[in-house]
Amino acid sequence: MKLIEKLFLFVTVWCMASIAPADEPKPAQQDAAAASASSGKEKPKPYFYIVAADPQLLWGQKDERNWQTAVDHINRLGPDFVIVCGDLIQGANESKAWDDPKKVKEYDHLAKLYLDAAKKIKPGIKLYNVAGNHDVSLKPTAKTLAWYEGHFGKPWYAFEHKQSLFVVLESDLLRDGGGAPDLAAKQTEWLRETLAKAGGKSYVHKTAYMHHPMCLKSVDEKSEYFNMPLRVRTDMLRNFHDRGFRAVFSGHYHKNAYVKDVEMELITTSSCGKGLGKDPLGFRIVKVYPDRTEHKYYGFDKLPPTVKVECKGSLMACCNHGAPGVFTGWR
Ligand SMILES: [Zn+2]
Ligand SMILES: [Zn+2]
Repeated sequence: MKLIEKLFLFVTVWCMASIAPADEPKPAQQDAAAASASSGKEKPKPYFYIVAADPQLLWGQKDERNWQTAVDHINRLGPDFVIVCGDLIQGANESKAWDDPKKVKEYDHLAKLYLDAAKKIKPGIKLYNVAGNHDVSLKPTAKTLAWYEGHFGKPWYAFEHKQSLFVVLESDLLRDGGGAPDLAAKQTEWLRETLAKAGGKSYVHKTAYMHHPMCLKSVDEKSEYFNMPLRVRTDMLRNFHDRGFRAVFSGHYHKNAYVKDVEMELITTSSCGKGLGKDPLGFRIVKVYPDRTEHKYYGFDKLPPTVKVECKGSLMACCNHGAPGVFTGWR
């Protein structure tokens, strides 16, 4: 066989292997099949959304320009929606500081800067906020959580979009519920019920969003400031796995990080306000296909002119998007 023929055969086999269903369908694929079989609904067309993190006004920033830049790019690209993974403002880590009216007045001002820029997001692109330690403190109280809700919306909630489920959590309460034990118990119970319902329903994809990364390098790494405590992490991961979740998105680290836990991706997105590593200010674009999601972090100056999500042309052309469920890169 000539070299060119061998090459063609290899590419064809690789592409077919990437697209053909595996012997054991993955949870998301089972869900997708069940969704169309049980409801008779057509699978949704591919689409994309944006995950940003830590605008954190005005930490290390003179003004709200970086967040405004994110908003401008969001409007230019036109995603279905945007999720901002916490630290919307730079409030104190200590809940005691939130008792000081002078400090709270300053936080009101920072929240206004964030929300005024966010109001410029085009109608039709919904913004979903996630609470971070600098929005509710590291040990949230009923007072800090009420302040957050008054400005940014519910600290934990779920929504559906095009037959997929998106679960948003308040990770400070999950890490340390000691400042508001009743609310911590309420969120835990809500999460238990939401996951139980999600397990029994047919979704194309199920993903979760919270400020703190589950982990940065491996699922069994030691507990530290930037991750979830090991015991909480192990419990949550088991639950998410059991319910067929395929990804957990987070911020807080001000750098990108990525861990693959069997079929579940644990994705940490760098800051759009102030970075702490080599990653430029930017955000992540997440493309959603019926059989997989793809995501990539872009610095603001490296963002594409438009985002293409259609799988056009031949089977071979589809292969360019990557194999099902395979992570296709981030920076
Ligand atoms: Zn944080
Ligand atoms: Zn932060």
